[in-house]
Amino acid sequence: MHALPKYGQNHIDGAWVDGGAGRIDVLNPANGEIVATQALADAADVDRAVQAARALHLSGALTAMRPIERGRMVQAMGRYLLEHKTEIARMLVLEQGKPFWESVIEVEGAGLYFEYYGNQASTVEGRSIPLGAGYYDFTDHEPMGVSAQIIPWNYPVEMTARSLAAALATGNTCVIKSPELTPLTNAWFVHAAEAAGFPPGAVNLICGLGREAGAALAGHPQVNQIVFTGSVQTGIAIATAAARNVVPSVLELGGKSAAIVHDDADLDAFETDIRWGIYFNAGQVCSAMSRVIVHESRAEELIARAEAIANSLSVGPGIEREVFGATMGAMVSEAQRDRAEAMVRRAEDQGARRVAGGRALNRPGAFLQPTVLAGVTPEMEIAREEVFGPVLSVLTFRDDAEAIEIANSTDYGLVGGVFTRDLDRATRAARQIRAGQVFVNEWYAGGVETPFGGVGKSGYGREKGREALWNYVQTKNIAIRMGRG
Ligand code: NAD
Repeated sequence: MHALPKYGQNHIDGAWVDGGAGRIDVLNPANGEIVATQALADAADVDRAVQAARALHLSGALTAMRPIERGRMVQAMGRYLLEHKTEIARMLVLEQGKPFWESVIEVEGAGLYFEYYGNQASTVEGRSIPLGAGYYDFTDHEPMGVSAQIIPWNYPVEMTARSLAAALATGNTCVIKSPELTPLTNAWFVHAAEAAGFPPGAVNLICGLGREAGAALAGHPQVNQIVFTGSVQTGIAIATAAARNVVPSVLELGGKSAAIVHDDADLDAFETDIRWGIYFNAGQVCSAMSRVIVHESRAEELIARAEAIANSLSVGPGIEREVFGATMGAMVSEAQRDRAEAMVRRAEDQGARRVAGGRALNRPGAFLQPTVLAGVTPEMEIAREEVFGPVLSVLTFRDDAEAIEIANSTDYGLVGGVFTRDLDRATRAARQIRAGQVFVNEWYAGGVETPFGGVGKSGYGREKGREALWNYVQTKNIAIRMGRG
């Protein structure tokens, strides 16, 4: 049993250590109180972490293992997280702000990644390539080596689980850069790796400021692969650093994803999509349903339903919201809340109609009312830029072509959705929506098994599913000349 720590440290080469860049206060976004302090890594700490990961990789300890055994250890990490679900979820509520029941879902989701990728470890197989009688040729998949994983604050547990499970299953060693706003829960991955028997150096964990520790990690010449989830601006900095060292990166950079709702859509069912699509995690979800593009004949009905859902949510401290229900917690910080509120005000100035919410709650904490904006048009900032908050923008269309044009009118392309009873129409839209994933008749359909990632400014590469395994391995071809021995 690990009590809620008052001081979170970094973990390098099997030891908990302080950081060269001092400490930072971790604030509870529900009340502004200090939850704990966290050691901040500097570039020297980052270097030690990378060297530890590299030394273990070069020792061959993980690569020499039979993959099915490595997979068993990865699965054991997932079970460990689930055994400590309540403790992890409580810590997550305190550092991130989401309701307790949402935190439990997040920890369970993290457990799934370890279960899934643990299972996949022994499936990363090569192929043999026929070259005639004189040769025997086959491919092999080798781990990249040191995997650097830079984690965002919106799902600190699930995002780390997503990349860590796949990286370890394929035999890589890892350096995790936890988010400075929500660093505390990441310590559980170190506990889980130790409990599962991973040697020191396999899972190194450092927290630090993005511009200092994050930049040092992204630019470290002995990092072999980088996974990043976060903002476009930071993604560009990371891809630039990766390019200088000629290493691959996976970028998952958010979106402005749209649901197209046709005149024959089941609006009763769509209420659930509004509830989850934009108010889950207070809208701080890269694949949030932040735009609804509805046929003009159903617009007033849909807006009334969205208004009712927004007004039905009880907003307040996540720790008091234990059981699944119509509740929403704080945003991650007052700065993020103020940014979202300012975007709503600018949208109103540009002509959008505020149907619900849109203002900070009159109480301490980073709370924003669940918000619905109607009368949004494609050129408005609110229709183009990611709010990363509980703000739904409703736009209208007249015909199918216009719906697709509006859906595809942002620089992003993470996910999209189409809601209709007409299979042909749904299939056509699924092909035409510019996004890495399209949901038909259920927002967030899919799971850890389904590949996820964007096009355009939403990034490149795929996490989740079997596709993600290929981020963590490189193909080697071995060509044997026969008959000369
Ligand atoms: P960010 O992209 O700056 O931070 C994400 C991670 O990157 C953090 O761990 C941070 O320390 C690190 N980082 C920052 N600068 C870095 C650098 N130069 N080199 C290496 N690492 C660096 O995001 P933010 O400032 O916390 O949030 C800003 C906006 O980003 C949000 O409003 C939201 O729109 C978006 N965002 C998206 C996601 C997502 O899931 N797609 C997650 C978080 C934030």
